[in-house]
Amino acid sequence: MTFAQLGLSPALLKVISQQGYQTPTYIQRQSIPLILSGQDLLASSQTGSGKTAAYALPLIQQLLAGAPARSNHIRALILVPTRELAIQVSDYIKACTLGMRLRTQAVYGGVKINPQMQRLRPGADILIATPGRLLDLFRSNALGFRQLGYLVLDEADKMLDLGFLAEVKQILHLLPANRQSLMLSATFSDEVRGLAGKILHQATEIAL
Ligand code: AMP
Repeated sequence: MTFAQLGLSPALLKVISQQGYQTPTYIQRQSIPLILSGQDLLASSQTGSGKTAAYALPLIQQLLAGAPARSNHIRALILVPTRELAIQVSDYIKACTLGMRLRTQAVYGGVKINPQMQRLRPGADILIATPGRLLDLFRSNALGFRQLGYLVLDEADKMLDLGFLAEVKQILHLLPANRQSLMLSATFSDEVRGLAGKILHQATEIAL
């Protein structure tokens, strides 16, 4: 199995080969064609499984096909539980989209909010965010969700363990219903499945 067989475009195949990836991992083989076909997904994934590329590459490909973000608006939201993961995902996506017309930003708590508000002003095609800071930015009118077409919840089990359920629910109420949603979690507890039921629409499940 090659990356080309998964339906990725020449632009992304070039990125992948520059990164030195030769063959897709299990979660990449399972999820990339499904995401490209527009389906919602609940995927079991551990760090080190190649999960970031599994959702980021098809997301980037779909975003490249649409209109760019308007001022203060975002087209894809990746919710993560920690600042460290936000930075890691943002660095990976920025590396993948070098020279492409996609704007990626990361926002998280523990740092000043004003520079983040300013960086959002031109809009972001991809925003990686921790839940609390995202809500603060929304309440400060620094963010609009009308253009949002994609939602990713990465490390959903950790998000719940850290007590972010209420915030995630508040965020869900702000997002357009007509969107593609992806959820990744190391474990499928009852709580994770409960949240999946609220976020996902006719989702396909990928277990390790
Ligand atoms: P992740 O599970 O997203 O944290 O990724 C774990 C590591 O595997 C990262 O350093 C990726 O750059 C790397 N990686 C992801 N996909 C592949 C692949 N298909 N082949 C080789 N390395 C990969």
